[in-house]
Amino acid sequence: MKRTGIFFHYQYGERLRDFPRALEGILDKDNVFFYDAFYPAKPISSFDLEPIPAELLYRVHTSEMVEQVKRSGAFEGALFSAAGTVAAAIRIWRGEIDNAFIFTGYGDHHAGSHFFGGGCYFNGTAIAIYELRQRFGAGRFAIIDTDAHHGNGTWQIFETDLDLLYVCLCSGPTSEKNNKVNIQLPWSVNDEEYLRLVRENFVRRATRFQPEAIFWNWGYDGTQGEYGDIGLTADFHVQLAGELKRAADEACRGRLIVVLCGGSRRDLARHLIPEIIRVLAG
Ligand SMILES: [Zn+2]
Ligand SMILES: [Zn+2]
Repeated sequence: MKRTGIFFHYQYGERLRDFPRALEGILDKDNVFFYDAFYPAKPISSFDLEPIPAELLYRVHTSEMVEQVKRSGAFEGALFSAAGTVAAAIRIWRGEIDNAFIFTGYGDHHAGSHFFGGGCYFNGTAIAIYELRQRFGAGRFAIIDTDAHHGNGTWQIFETDLDLLYVCLCSGPTSEKNNKVNIQLPWSVNDEEYLRLVRENFVRRATRFQPEAIFWNWGYDGTQGEYGDIGLTADFHVQLAGELKRAADEACRGRLIVVLCGGSRRDLARHLIPEIIRVLAG
């Protein structure tokens, strides 16, 4: 059984409207820890999620970009989204939890060192990795990106970083350089084929690569009926969580950090997020 951290902050928007209420029956487990911020009716047992200091942003993003985000109106939400990922990483390194699920208002993977877009403002995964390296001397990491779209920001930030394995499955052309791997998906893919691609292109590589943790940029926008529909069924995401949890067990003592990326439907969020957290918590 793993100790699972859930990192949540109150945010506007439709898709997470059922949370944290939809986590009922999970939060009272002894091996689940709930960290939150901004939520007006915080449960008594929760821990505070602290914001991240500005200097962490500047390690990854240019000051011009941070200023632009400040003017966008999304700054606070973006900051707490990234803060969840950073806080999860630090708690795993301190040995308080084994794995984590991060609720984000704004995603990660389209945010590069000097640009942002597509609903992403700061690259929380990159900020967390820089912090783990700085604070704990950590080295190698793996990121798998199963959002339907290409993680151009994550790719750019780590482009020449040989200690960072990044595997992205999307519609862009297949390529591989400096441990950055893009896998082109067919126009429509079934669950079985997708799982095979993940095993062949990520799980195998990650086991050899021996990262200290695996970050999973999890988007559900490729689900049937979503805006990035590539043909996946909803319940496939739960199966994928099991696969990546096993991969993390094998490669890095179970250190798996799941970062919510794309997806818009409230019903899918309400169904899938609790299921994935149940997988993480064993
Ligand atoms: Zn997407
Ligand atoms: Zn891609």
